[in-house]
Amino acid sequence: MSKSPFGKGGVKHKVLSCPRDKTVLDQQEQGEATLDVCSKCGGQFFDSGEMFAAFGIKADPTYWDRPETGGPTRTGDVPCPRCEAHLLTQEIRHEGQAVEIDRCGKCGGLWLDAGEATRIIAIGEKMAPVIAAEKAQAQKELDALGDDAFGSPGLIARFLGLFQKKS
Ligand SMILES: [Zn+2]
Ligand SMILES: [Zn+2]
Repeated sequence: MSKSPFGKGGVKHKVLSCPRDKTVLDQQEQGEATLDVCSKCGGQFFDSGEMFAAFGIKADPTYWDRPETGGPTRTGDVPCPRCEAHLLTQEIRHEGQAVEIDRCGKCGGLWLDAGEATRIIAIGEKMAPVIAAEKAQAQKELDALGDDAFGSPGLIARFLGLFQKKS
């Protein structure tokens, strides 16, 4: 009788509990996202993409995976509130600031302990102009490369030169 996959409490309405203290998480509106927050320890759970939805570009997780900010991951000792896979602990650091976050490699969820969201966003704010400058520089180099490859006869002339020497 209880075998039905459509029993009460579908996947979408799954009650999440805090990976630290097992308190049932409360839902909280933040920006465009609905976060799951622990009223006991202040930790927050973000489903994949919710960090961006809640805080915008300065919380874009792609910043964190850069070699100068993202440290190696190691398997942590608490389960993901969403899918129960082990969360992976990773240290994100930039200019003397460091935050240890917990990410889920399976569902892409993110667990931040109290205060960590503020710190990771502060790092994101510092990284944003660096990333923007790099993108502009990369575009410039791409443009310059295009001019050289298609506009200059230098390469073709040198190529022809090799044959002329041989004969
Ligand atoms: Zn908690
Ligand atoms: Zn997960």
